Amino acid sequence: MNHTPAATPDAAPEATPEAAPETAAATVTRLRAAFDTGRTKPLAWRQAQLAALRSLLTEQSEAFLQALHEDLGKSTAEAYRTEIGFTLNELDHTVAHLEQWLRPKPAAVPEFFQPAAARVVRDPLGVVLIIAPWNYPLQLALSPLVGALAAGNAAVLKPSELAPATSAALARLLPRYLDPAAVAVVEGAVPETTALLEQRFDHIFYTGNGAVGRIVMAAAARHLTPVTLELGGKSPVVVEPGVDLAVTARRIARGKFLNAGQTCVAPDYVLAIGESAPALEAHLADAVRELYGDDPATGGEYGRIVNERHFDRLTALLGDGRTVTGGTHDRADRYLAPTVLADVSPEAPVMRAEIFGPILPVVAVPDLDAAIAFINERDKPLALYAFTESAHTKQRLTEETSSGALSFGLPVSHLAMPELPFGGVGESGMGRYHGEYSLDTFSHAKAVVDKPLA
Ligand code: NAD
Repeated sequence: MNHTPAATPDAAPEATPEAAPETAAATVTRLRAAFDTGRTKPLAWRQAQLAALRSLLTEQSEAFLQALHEDLGKSTAEAYRTEIGFTLNELDHTVAHLEQWLRPKPAAVPEFFQPAAARVVRDPLGVVLIIAPWNYPLQLALSPLVGALAAGNAAVLKPSELAPATSAALARLLPRYLDPAAVAVVEGAVPETTALLEQRFDHIFYTGNGAVGRIVMAAAARHLTPVTLELGGKSPVVVEPGVDLAVTARRIARGKFLNAGQTCVAPDYVLAIGESAPALEAHLADAVRELYGDDPATGGEYGRIVNERHFDRLTALLGDGRTVTGGTHDRADRYLAPTVLADVSPEAPVMRAEIFGPILPVVAVPDLDAAIAFINERDKPLALYAFTESAHTKQRLTEETSSGALSFGLPVSHLAMPELPFGGVGESGMGRYHGEYSLDTFSHAKAVVDKPLA
């Protein structure tokens, strides 16, 4: 330890150019004081923050793209589309509609109370905490922030320590653009997040796994703080016989192997009905080649596994079926080839927990009844996908299953449609966001009644 000989009890000990980091309690107190002044409430402040966020994303896109490549090997095209472009879309949609969304909504007054008027106004909640995961470390930090700022809140953003380059870029760059009195980035892992969770927030928005989701919810309960939990799970893809398997395989592969399978709404496994499995497997192998070439390791378009722990977890699953394509890996490069496994038993480890990596098991089931039963025996998924031409099948899946989202013919893309709510149900989460749903999440719908006194 260094000692500064000249230090006196009154002098700053070991004067260094950098100030000591603010404690979690101090950050929240500071932001709450700013919120209490009313500075975050005017529409002009909200619009200015959203415009500043837009400038952050466009002016600093190079820095973010570099960080995303460092953390997850994301190609420029993929990172731009799924992180920067995605967030800009969400932001532009919000900016275009914000004034209209914030207009008080008139409500009918029953005859008995008339004359009177009633309306619903959206109140900001106060200071909100956003805890982001590593897999889309920019998008999943900033797109909830769009909603929090649009709703007029102060916000603490906690990026994931498992995407350290992106976390550092956010901590360094965001305060240069957004109002530092009302928006703070707190970096860190479990101890720092635990310290944050001890504070009283007015909403906690958490994206990540369900085990930590439970910790977040328990911490929030102490302050009666509402939570949004954006979790994951095994999202199935049902494939019926008779559909165009080339198109089906291409769309499944595109959704599955994006970000090397580390996408919350990635197809987790395929339920191939009847005789469709063998032909589908061959088409999936073709689709992988079309997307990433003969050697995905060298093409530059295919991502990497986030760290060795996840790499080891994933490679341990490779023996759970017959390898149709892929299976090769390189730990030093955190590379795991896009892999399709066939003849997978429903009891195999790969079918027990969310895969969250580039391994796609194909499970054969005899008919639609068996597929629906398979889905309903398990946790409610974040997304359910189906490839079918049958209106009856679509109706049955809509009515007989429960999932965060249901998409026919197009895995993953529903989350890029800002008029759709995005969120899970049951084990895949609670609450929803994107577009106007974000405004609902980050505001209180206040009932206002106004009856004349005479
Ligand atoms: P992660 O490890 O980055 O954790 C998420 C956040 O929780 C991080 O900020 C981390 O610091 C914090 N955290 C971790 N342990 C904690 C603890 N003990 N106490 C307090 N905070 C803690 O990400 P992850 O959980 O590995 O993310 C993957 C999971 O997230 C998958 O299940 C995936 O499906 C899900 N996910 C869901 C969505 C969605 O939008 N629904 C999006 C992405 C990922």
